[in-house]
Amino acid sequence: MSTDTIDHEALREKYLAERDKRLRDEGNAQYMEPTGRFEHFLEDPYAERVEREPLFDEVTVAIIGGGFAGLATGARLKEAGVDDVRIIEGGGDVGGVWYWNRYPGAMCDTAAMVYLPLLEETGHMPSMKYVFGPEIFGHAKRIATQYGLYDNALFSTQVESLEWEESSSRWVIRTNRGDEIRARFITQGTGPLQRIKLPGIPGIDTFAGHTFHTARWDYDYTGGDPSGAPLEKLADKRVGIIGTGATAVQCIPALAASAGEFYVFQRTPSSIDVRGNHPIDPEAFAALDPGWQQKWYTNFATLQTGGFTDEDLVMDGWTDLAKRIRDRVFTKMSEGGEISAEAIQRAFLDSDDEKMEEIRSRVEAIVEDPATAERLKPWYRQLCKRPCFHDEYLQSYNRPNVTLVDTNGLGVERIDETGVWVNGVHYELDCLIFATGFEVGTEYSRRAGFETVGRDGATLTKHWADGMSTLHGMHMHDFPNAFIVGFSQGGNLVSNITHNYVEAGKTVATIIAHALEVGADEVEVTEEAEKDWVDMCNGSGGGGILGSVFGNLLVECTPGYYNNEGRPQDGSGFVVGGHPGGPVGFFSYIDEWRRSGEFKGLEFRANGEPLG
Ligand code: NDP
Repeated sequence: MSTDTIDHEALREKYLAERDKRLRDEGNAQYMEPTGRFEHFLEDPYAERVEREPLFDEVTVAIIGGGFAGLATGARLKEAGVDDVRIIEGGGDVGGVWYWNRYPGAMCDTAAMVYLPLLEETGHMPSMKYVFGPEIFGHAKRIATQYGLYDNALFSTQVESLEWEESSSRWVIRTNRGDEIRARFITQGTGPLQRIKLPGIPGIDTFAGHTFHTARWDYDYTGGDPSGAPLEKLADKRVGIIGTGATAVQCIPALAASAGEFYVFQRTPSSIDVRGNHPIDPEAFAALDPGWQQKWYTNFATLQTGGFTDEDLVMDGWTDLAKRIRDRVFTKMSEGGEISAEAIQRAFLDSDDEKMEEIRSRVEAIVEDPATAERLKPWYRQLCKRPCFHDEYLQSYNRPNVTLVDTNGLGVERIDETGVWVNGVHYELDCLIFATGFEVGTEYSRRAGFETVGRDGATLTKHWADGMSTLHGMHMHDFPNAFIVGFSQGGNLVSNITHNYVEAGKTVATIIAHALEVGADEVEVTEEAEKDWVDMCNGSGGGGILGSVFGNLLVECTPGYYNNEGRPQDGSGFVVGGHPGGPVGFFSYIDEWRRSGEFKGLEFRANGEPLG
């Protein structure tokens, strides 16, 4: 599609009007925690709670969270010869989001060859370009088994507090099982999207039918299973779902195929690009050279953030937009045009307009009812919300049992005992499913479920009260021997979260192995190094071509968790500053930092005295 025919200014006006419709004064406060009648939403439907005696012991490294962050860290620690590690995990197994999210159709939008960590180490060949939840969960278990991470792990155990004990240079971990575990080092990989949130819709707690959140799918009620068996118990049910984000897009086709009557309550449509899934060719996989996954990582991260490579190994919707922008800038350069920040921004906007027009045309081509198609068209820039990729979602609206109930950006009006109200119309339901996502932008300790108390009573909540503050997204002054394993203020590669974790795991393992080798009882970032890093990140807007341009545009985005519900300036959204060189710049910087052996910014101490 040519951009010549697009009225860019009219489109921008339309986007702003759609954003304004959705802006709410209460921001994040529009959501509520699952408490009271919804408290059971947090329970684990997949594991029996087995009683056990509390533990009072000590480990070298405690890994809080058994998702891919914890697993990648544990694996790298084991490789570095640090054997005495213990995963502590609230769920009944490893897997993190892939343990909890077992809704039908759950799959990863990032290609498995780069999303699944440690493929070379485990020898696993993904079955498809994009793999489904059960395979990903299976891979998490494979890593835990191969690296012996089950041996000392504690499952169905929720950390309640982490406290630094100065006298012994140990962290004291208290859990809901009465454990009091001491650890020389702690790593936290509690995930960015794990605390269930509900919409604060008037009357939400009056609904008398069946209800659950997608992160705790109730197969007893719906029938079916995570591997895709039909939800046969819904055949005679009137089912509603609130939310049309990445989760809903994946489970709606299964609900549409099974429910007697199915109502989708939509506030903002997602952008649905082509999926194009296919099996992985075993011959091509077998022919990959050693070191291939690192090569794929770098290739994907480079293309995704506007860089150049000889080939596009992953070739998907994530790299597509970035390549369009890059090529526009390149064409302008070869024509002798000036490469200013404005020119790059124009290339970004033109490419995005082109892409979003294609996505809206796709809706028209697939959805038979023109009025429904119109309501399913997204009016914002593609990266304002999590881009979705699906080849069955839009088709679901062609089924006679499926009704799209659009709320014109305002959300569900109210809920009563028997159903949902929108625009003065009542929809009677037997079952109401919440696909309303997870807390972002609330306090870290609230999302993690525990407070981290460092030296002299310093809390992470207070340390981050004005926004995240770390060196490399990992170290905080006053919190010795503690490591965050995430992506913010580091690589910030949102399109492939696990790549960030694999890198962070390597960094943690390198530092801890060094501390043990030189006999340090403490390692801590200096105040100055942390401050310099934060200043650098805050000035970068996320890094790379896309990061810097897009960071400026977030405020124009329709509200959502990417832009802190329309208030990106508060600094607590999902996308916060990262390395100015973007993901590729950061990964290459941190690799060099690790290799140098200098551990710049960190101080190693023994008996209170700095080492070396
Ligand atoms: P989201 O937060 O993305 O979506 C929540 C949905 O609930 C939105 O559609 C939102 O509308 C809607 N909503 C909230 N309040 C109301 C209301 N009052 N009335 C009507 N609708 C309302 O959560 P998801 O669980 O869908 O996804 C969370 C993230 O998890 C994704 O963005 C992605 O990062 C990750 N994920 C990744 C997948 C993958 O493939 N790797 C698959 C699934 C999820 P509005 O948009 O207007 O706020």
